[in-house]
Amino acid sequence: MPAQILDGKMIAQQMRAKLRPARDALGPRAIRLVSVEVGQNPASAVYVRNQQRAAAEVGIAMEVRNLPVSTTEADLVANLQELNHRPEVAGILVQRPLPPGIDPRIVQSAIDPQKDVEGMHPANMGAILYREPLLPPCTAAAAQHLILATGIDLRGAETVVVGHSEIVGKPIAVLLLHRLSTVTVCHIGTKQLNDHTRRADILVVAVGKAGLVHGDMIKPGACVIDVGINQGADGKIVGDVDFASVAAVAGYLTPVPGGVGPVTVAMLLRNTLRAAGAHV
Ligand code: NAD
Repeated sequence: MPAQILDGKMIAQQMRAKLRPARDALGPRAIRLVSVEVGQNPASAVYVRNQQRAAAEVGIAMEVRNLPVSTTEADLVANLQELNHRPEVAGILVQRPLPPGIDPRIVQSAIDPQKDVEGMHPANMGAILYREPLLPPCTAAAAQHLILATGIDLRGAETVVVGHSEIVGKPIAVLLLHRLSTVTVCHIGTKQLNDHTRRADILVVAVGKAGLVHGDMIKPGACVIDVGINQGADGKIVGDVDFASVAAVAGYLTPVPGGVGPVTVAMLLRNTLRAAGAHV
């Protein structure tokens, strides 16, 4: 039987509907999320517009600050420090990629951890080892949310995460470890990727290589979460998973686009409301 497609757009819509009353409970004060971008990136312009639309639906005012491409790391840090001190700013988000010469770790560390709605400040990243933090990294939280939406019991499940980046693969692995699944992390140094993916009840792929995972690498009935975003030769956006062959074997599969992406944006909004004091 073909996989059940996990509709991220619908799940994100349901999340936003739950966030709205939590936002309203904060009263009439403005809840501001500031997005900072250095230079102009056409791909991120689309992404930012989607974020703004979703934020408006929840009642969050998203301000976009475009800094010139000549901005130095020190200028960017000064901008972030100014935002840290503005009381009406609940959350700060820095759009990636940053131009060469700006270290994303320095930038992320300059944001007040209580306004770090992407959950990437070292304090929030470190806290994830103790438990799921108040402001978890958005993509990792989105992947977990999609898995939980299937109703699969994570305790004891064989979970394989392909990709071990700081912002995606590692935090996903840790969140799923907290749920007592048995987690294997694969990466560029893994010798036989197939050997690992074929025994996964839950497979999360976060690499950035179109077509890396095919149907013959999947355990029948597995839950497959495709985090990858790649632009095909025809300009279309595809994930890391070969959709048709994997859908024929898996039990659940996220599409790209329309899977992890919209839920990641909903997590960003949830984190912003949490940073503003909401209990969501
Ligand atoms: P990254 O480049 O920082 O990390 C890539 C990871 O893949 C590394 O751990 C590397 O070891 C591993 N890898 C590379 N080649 C491999 C191979 N052949 N076999 C196994 N592992 C291999 O990337 P990232 O920032 O973690 O992003 C990963 C993907 O997720 C990208 O496509 C990115 O665009 C996407 N992404 C999506 C969202 C979302 O909201 N949907 C958010 C962030 C990133």
